[in-house]
Amino acid sequence: MAGNRQVVLTARPTGKVQASDFAIVDGTIRSPGDGQLLVENLYLSIDPGVRNLLGAETGYLPPVAIGAALAGTILGRVLESRNERFGVGNLVIGRGTIGEFSLITPDALCWKVDPARYPTLSSALTVLGVPGLTAYMGLLEVARPRAGETILVSGAAGAVGSIASQIAKIKDCRVVGIAGGEAKRRLLIDEFGLDAAIDYKGLSVAELSAAIGNACPAGVDALFDNVGGSVLDAALGQMNRGGRIAACGMISQYDGSPPPQMQNLFHIVSKALKIEGFLLFDFVSQYERALTDLTEWVSQDKIHCREDIADGLAQAIPMFLKLFDGENRGKAIVKL
Ligand code: NAP
Repeated sequence: MAGNRQVVLTARPTGKVQASDFAIVDGTIRSPGDGQLLVENLYLSIDPGVRNLLGAETGYLPPVAIGAALAGTILGRVLESRNERFGVGNLVIGRGTIGEFSLITPDALCWKVDPARYPTLSSALTVLGVPGLTAYMGLLEVARPRAGETILVSGAAGAVGSIASQIAKIKDCRVVGIAGGEAKRRLLIDEFGLDAAIDYKGLSVAELSAAIGNACPAGVDALFDNVGGSVLDAALGQMNRGGRIAACGMISQYDGSPPPQMQNLFHIVSKALKIEGFLLFDFVSQYERALTDLTEWVSQDKIHCREDIADGLAQAIPMFLKLFDGENRGKAIVKL
């Protein structure tokens, strides 16, 4: 099948990712093989983790080859199915291609979307999709907050962070968020209902650590960390003994910045901290329970979710670049 415009990698970014590292080209797409689906993409989820696949090294997924299309989470309509679990016309979420069509091999990150179950279709990619599930699993299964504890969330104004913060509020914790800029700091308090918020921009590790200490007078019992680097370093200094850290992501290190010299690592030993990384797809057996809870909280207006939706494939790369400048205002999505 021809006429499939898609975003391909044209150069491996060595430092900060740039628009010139990508091109939109016309590609062909194969008919689905046994077990596969051909899907017309309706929404593209623009995710910072894709940056980790643009280098030459193999991480938790293989790198994107030069000239190959970028992979990403998509929501689309099945045009052809060679998988008995999915029929033509079904809406699905899956790991597809950042382009007009996807050839999907259903796996743990592919499921059918019943539109009657979602307040809006895009919510299946936001609060009731991967960001919501990641926040739910990372907070409740890894950070494991208890009522009355102080929970610190980095990247707190973002897609995953804002939902993790609000779930921690639902669990009766004192919640403090870290985000970039005064507008996002205010958003954390006014819209997401956090108890305190910190703008990390321009602060040294010592200054940020002091700001966390002021905002968390009883210390930090658990950290939900989306950022890593200096923000994690500053938070280590304010953790309570036996504190837990759910390592969700390290966006500060995705875009070519050299890792900082960590100053506070010894706190891991002296405070007997537990740091646990996690990947959403390891929790597949619990998605249904999480989706039920998240749907209920959304319907009760206990979770607000911001969506930053741009129109047209040409917006995919500008939207991706915005993630690393903190310019996205909610979950980054492209609607086709
Ligand atoms: P997001 O938070 O909506 O957008 C990215 C935000 O990261 C930006 O708006 C910016 O906010 C912040 N940021 C960018 N560069 C930064 C830097 N150098 N230092 C500090 N903050 C920086 O993105 P998301 O989709 O919700 O993803 C958040 C994290 O979750 C990422 O680390 C991602 O890899 C991770 N994740 C993990 C899993 C998993 O299974 N473990 C699944 C999905 C996502 P500010 O303006 O506040 O700087």
